[in-house]
Amino acid sequence: MKLHYDMIVIGSGPAGKRAAIQAAKIGKKVLLIEKNEVVGGVTVHTGTIPSKTLRETVLFLSGWRQRGIYGRSYKVKDNITADDLKQRLTTTLGHEIEIIQHQLMRNGVEIQYGHARFIGEKSIGVEDHDGIMHDFTADYFVICVGTKTRRPDSVPFDGEAIMDSDEILKLSRIPKKLLVVGGGVIGLEYATIFKALDIEVTVLESNDYLLGFVDREIIDELIALCRKEERTRFEKELVEYEDETTIESELLNIKSAHLLGQGFLEAALKAMQEIPLVDQDNYGQFNPFVRRFKDCVNCLLPDSVTTYNRIELIELMLEMEFNARAAETADQAASIYFDLGEAFYNMSYFGQAWKATDLFRSSASASRAYRNKGQKIFSQVGLPLGNAENFDTDRARRYFDLARRTAKSKEIQVAAAYMAAKCERDDFYTKQERRTYDYFGIIETDYSDTQFYQRIINECRDFQAYLLK
Ligand SMILES: Cc1cc2nc3c(=O)[nH]c(=O)nc-3n(C[C@H](O)[C@H](O)[C@H](O)COP(=O)(O)OP(=O)(O)OC[C@H]3O[C@@H](n4cnc5c(N)ncnc54)[C@H](O)[C@@H]3O)c2cc1C
Repeated sequence: MKLHYDMIVIGSGPAGKRAAIQAAKIGKKVLLIEKNEVVGGVTVHTGTIPSKTLRETVLFLSGWRQRGIYGRSYKVKDNITADDLKQRLTTTLGHEIEIIQHQLMRNGVEIQYGHARFIGEKSIGVEDHDGIMHDFTADYFVICVGTKTRRPDSVPFDGEAIMDSDEILKLSRIPKKLLVVGGGVIGLEYATIFKALDIEVTVLESNDYLLGFVDREIIDELIALCRKEERTRFEKELVEYEDETTIESELLNIKSAHLLGQGFLEAALKAMQEIPLVDQDNYGQFNPFVRRFKDCVNCLLPDSVTTYNRIELIELMLEMEFNARAAETADQAASIYFDLGEAFYNMSYFGQAWKATDLFRSSASASRAYRNKGQKIFSQVGLPLGNAENFDTDRARRYFDLARRTAKSKEIQVAAAYMAAKCERDDFYTKQERRTYDYFGIIETDYSDTQFYQRIINECRDFQAYLLK
């Protein structure tokens, strides 16, 4: 006979544990199913607690916190081994699992170990670790099965030299050098832990920034303060003007700019739409689609050109994305992607259409830009893009590259490659590492028979020089 419950929860990570205990607290009969041999989920076995324990162990054994007093070479233990790191881990995790088991038991949550799968609309089959099947039914189900580490087929994981973030806890020896792929929270957490062991650590990140979401989280916190009914004196200092109105609209504008810069158009639009209607025109009128063959410093838009406020502009860009996907021919789609690249390019320091561009190109800010090479974001309150006004042409380059790869016409391809090459060249202002010239190479090898190529050779004095690099 199938056992019946008010609620079945699948997965005993933080989500499942809380759902089960909450339901049990209001008198429901609850079964929690966990496919591992012990409860706890990622947090306990491979995530939060192991990584923090490892961090504390490394900080202690490496004497990191005392190095300010005793000097850089101070260590609590010489030759720290993988076993040293694992010892504390095993004790801490065992303790955590006990706490969770006790919490579940105290609240009357029943536990079934094994892999759960639905076998009917309201029934579940669980194969336990001895291969025995158990069937259960319930009125309600909560699925809390969490996530898995991504393991692309192209990566030859072996658990020894190439491992994912779960396997790192099973390290059999501490490496001399470590390459961490991904500059997100977990990548940086392990990178800094191993760096504290004086291991040579390199982080590879495909974006131009590490922890890209952090600025946005800070902005969201400040927006929440603006919306709070009662603010402390400190909070008032942070978000209020002298007349006690708040900087909420400015923050939403900056948030929208951050999202736009990272290509999240829908979210950027939503942030902008939260600004009261009467204020929505306060953030400039633009047309970043105006095409110029060469950079044009301090150019104003001709009066005849239509301009858009930020909401209208993002809406238009979204419509263009849709049209590109729905386009009948490859060249039509490529032209739209090219225009989107153009818009992102013009919204950067290197464009001509945004008012901010001219502001940045005034000599003072240009020289500061050069001195600050490596820092991409300048604090310039009041610019249309707020503090996010920057030199990042990565988004533009991606659209130009998409246009090049989509187009059938070689003339469109080469024009897109040319703009992508400009983005690459512009990296000089933002990155400290050596410049790359991949797209100039592509133009020379693949497109020297095009009219566009002949035109740039004739009209652009510097172009030859770049081609030769
Ligand atoms: C290295 C690392 C560090 C982290 N650090 C932090 C941190 O500092 N702070 C923070 O807030 N978060 C951190 N996290 C994230 C945090 O661990 C996760 O957000 C959290 O564990 C998610 O909880 P969950 O309950 O949704 O899923 P999980 O913890 O993944 O639990 C899901 C459970 O479901 C079980 N399950 C899956 N399928 C089935 C099935 N068919 N039948 C039965 N059981 C099943 C799994 O075995 C697992 O136990 C970190 C993560 C990692 C990897």
